[in-house]
Amino acid sequence: MEKRPTVAIIDRSAIRHNFAAIEEKVAPPVKVMAVVKADAYGHGAVEVAKVLEAQGCGFFGVALCEEGIALREARIEAPVIVLAGLYPDQVTEVVDYDLTPVIFDTRCLSALDDAARQAGKSVDIHLKVDTGMGRLGLLPTQVAPFLEELKEYDHIRLAGLLSHFSEAEEREKSFSRTQIDSFTAVLKVVRDMGYDPVLSHMANSAAAVDLPASHFNLIRAGIMLYGAYPAESFKEKIELIPAMEVKTEIIQLKRVPKGFPVSYGRSYVTDRETLVATIPIGYGDGYSRSLSGSGQVLVGGRRAPVIGKVCMDLSMVDVTGVEGVKVGDEVVLLGRQGEEMIDADEIAAKMGTISYEVFCNISARVPRVYR
Ligand SMILES: *Cc1c(COP(=O)(O)O)cnc(C)c1O
Repeated sequence: MEKRPTVAIIDRSAIRHNFAAIEEKVAPPVKVMAVVKADAYGHGAVEVAKVLEAQGCGFFGVALCEEGIALREARIEAPVIVLAGLYPDQVTEVVDYDLTPVIFDTRCLSALDDAARQAGKSVDIHLKVDTGMGRLGLLPTQVAPFLEELKEYDHIRLAGLLSHFSEAEEREKSFSRTQIDSFTAVLKVVRDMGYDPVLSHMANSAAAVDLPASHFNLIRAGIMLYGAYPAESFKEKIELIPAMEVKTEIIQLKRVPKGFPVSYGRSYVTDRETLVATIPIGYGDGYSRSLSGSGQVLVGGRRAPVIGKVCMDLSMVDVTGVEGVKVGDEVVLLGRQGEEMIDADEIAAKMGTISYEVFCNISARVPRVYR
């Protein structure tokens, strides 16, 4: 069966390059955890993890237990840290699949300990401390009581301590520094209580580049692996290669007169004779409806505006200015064509969001093709 030409092309060599560039920013023996949650920000977690494991990446971060299981089923052997919460029903799976949950309260400890004992194993956990993100994690003052309780569980090993930055990508670093200080103080409390977590980590992509004092012995890199920057100012600090391109082809071309409505609601009406190209991608593929009237695509090496409302499966582009354009011509929504390039930050700015969401939005309906 011939398929719809809409694809997301993932460049493995870009991911390898980005991983190596991140590794260069951290001094040995600091290691890099590849954050591959949300299907590696839409790039395909299993493929990305395979590429990076072959490259020597020793740690993977996922949000969910089920994401960790998918990596294990694909024979990823490195430690997999489950960053965004463990649920009571998942303790057996965590043990069976050798996943490392991030823990932020005592809720699952007893069940986790039981599951590990029954399996004749010991389970590693990482303890999360909230140093100013106001999200998951124990407050620093809650750490000592937690560790007292942890002593009761013989089959749980405190293998890591972590925290998360709220604004490491900002130029002003003073709040980030208070987070580092707070984390350092907690690490001391933990050690004074006789625990020796092998791993301590708080840096995300931005902190990996900008805050060496936050590296401890592991950093967690997500967005930069995929070739996007935590903020504009990072472009001069590290050279990354975008790993995802989204492309399709023109499936219909139509010359319509001035005054002709395009797409739902007739919110767009041509102001001159217009050559309209219809492309088979829409918000059902993750090309946001909020790009109606502001999106641009590349056709024939030129920028062309998306006109009218983006539909679920289709969008329309004004290609009047594109010489020799024909049905079947390539249309680039994200990526490079000729001299022109549309990156995730450009799309994100038009949507009022960040590149992270642009990538995550590309839906499962768009086949990932690895190159
Ligand atoms: C997503 C995530 C990261 C990665 O952040 P980037 O900004 O993409 O590098 C790191 N740590 C935690 C806890 C996360 O949830």
